[in-house]
Amino acid sequence: MSATRFDVAGVSVSPDHYIDGRRVACVDTFECVSPIDQTRLGDIASGSLAHVDAAVTAAALAFPAWAALGAAGRAPYLQRFAEAIGRRADAFATLESSDAGVLRSRMAHGVVPRAMQNITWFAEHALTLQDRVIETPQARHLVRHDPAGVVAVITPWNSPLMLATWKIGPALASGNTVVLKAPEWAPLTSSLLADCAHEAGLPPGVFNLLQGSGAVTGAALVSDARLARISFTGSVATAKWIAKTAAANLVPCSLELGGKSAFIVLADADLDAAAATAALMYRNAGQVCLAGTRLLVHADVAAAFTERLRAQVEHLVVGDPRDGATEVGPIIHMRQLERVQGFVERAVAGGARVLWGGTRHPFGAQYFAPTLLTDLRQRDEIVQEEVFGPVLTLQTFGSDDEVVDMANGTDYGLGGVCYGNEAHAIAVAERVRTGFIWINSFGIRDLAAPFGGIKRSGVGREGGDWSFEFFCDVKDVVVPKQPFKASFSHR
Ligand code: NAD
Repeated sequence: MSATRFDVAGVSVSPDHYIDGRRVACVDTFECVSPIDQTRLGDIASGSLAHVDAAVTAAALAFPAWAALGAAGRAPYLQRFAEAIGRRADAFATLESSDAGVLRSRMAHGVVPRAMQNITWFAEHALTLQDRVIETPQARHLVRHDPAGVVAVITPWNSPLMLATWKIGPALASGNTVVLKAPEWAPLTSSLLADCAHEAGLPPGVFNLLQGSGAVTGAALVSDARLARISFTGSVATAKWIAKTAAANLVPCSLELGGKSAFIVLADADLDAAAATAALMYRNAGQVCLAGTRLLVHADVAAAFTERLRAQVEHLVVGDPRDGATEVGPIIHMRQLERVQGFVERAVAGGARVLWGGTRHPFGAQYFAPTLLTDLRQRDEIVQEEVFGPVLTLQTFGSDDEVVDMANGTDYGLGGVCYGNEAHAIAVAERVRTGFIWINSFGIRDLAAPFGGIKRSGVGREGGDWSFEFFCDVKDVVVPKQPFKASFSHR
């Protein structure tokens, strides 16, 4: 490992790429700055075209042997990979709260165990992937899932460890090799992930990490014609660019993008439960793609619901994400903070009323107060566009038809939440056009279930069998049932 490692609150981090089983240093670097107090955490490698070429070459060379191991041969490596993550649970929590502002409490109890499962669950599930056999009168079809080749994984800053492992797990388990491009605003836990891969003894080239900007390193990676798949999580604008670039090489993409999900509160909802769940939308300072940020509340219960939510929000602890009591941390970057503030200011200038928040929070330079805006029209920018900050909107409705129209009335279609009598809530949820919707709950994500969005929220599904469908090439081995007689008239 490189001698250039630096220290973040007692955790040693490599600033370098990880290519072909070793650390690769870089002359060009960029600064990694903490969103908590703007301290410089370290200088990180900034990948060039040559680094991208080296990483894809290493992954391509490693692919045949890794694929040939089969699911059973790969499983022990992946088990060790997950165990190495588990051994560093505290270090992952320290780093992701320091560079991404993710709540330390959430890392320890949610993200790190889930990151381990992302690896082990798919490794075990790959063992159960049998050839599907289709019998017809004339043939037996042995339908196989073959690994596709080199997979590029590109992740955003808001949950780097969880999102990287969610893609790397199934990609590696199904026999592909991986090049991960880490998010430049939160690069540290991806570097620790490379330490884990190394410690687990993954063969050189099976897992590679590139650090660097999207514009240079990311763009060069997705332009590489040797890729078999691109799995991307991030913004709509970047996804469009990646899809266009990948199309030039006919590389299939899975795109997990932004959201503007509805949080529906029907007149027959348990308002205390609905308000407690709605307050969770401020967690991670609202920088959560699947948050239900548009509160759509039946007019008959809007006042009672709003007061309950206000009571919840008054008790939210805004502060340092490294402190276990904190519930709302910083905004990732000053640019993002200004973007959030701009959305709120334009909404207010257009007639929106601030029920609470609406300004920066005094805790620190990159903090924004949990905010609720009302008096909105469906066409308003703040109702239509993803803010990605601690800003919720509240609109009221009078009928199921009206709330379904409002929920469906944006270009996004990632998730949703529906509180109400269960049968009623399911009936409404079935009419909302999204990739998923939670009934009287939020955030339940089982690895066996499909995840993804429609419209501007994404293309494709990952999770369970859907991950394997994406990361594998489906091949039909056709075995005739009668002796085959070659003939030009044969179909
Ligand atoms: P982003 O699109 O700016 O960046 C995401 C990643 O893409 C980064 O690693 C970046 O370096 C890279 N990138 C940027 N330009 C690139 C290019 N030209 N070629 C290749 N790679 C490039 O997104 P972000 O601001 O980091 O993340 C926030 C967005 O991610 C929000 O819209 C959020 O909703 C979305 N998100 C979606 C999900 C989901 O599962 N649907 C999960 C988390 C975040």
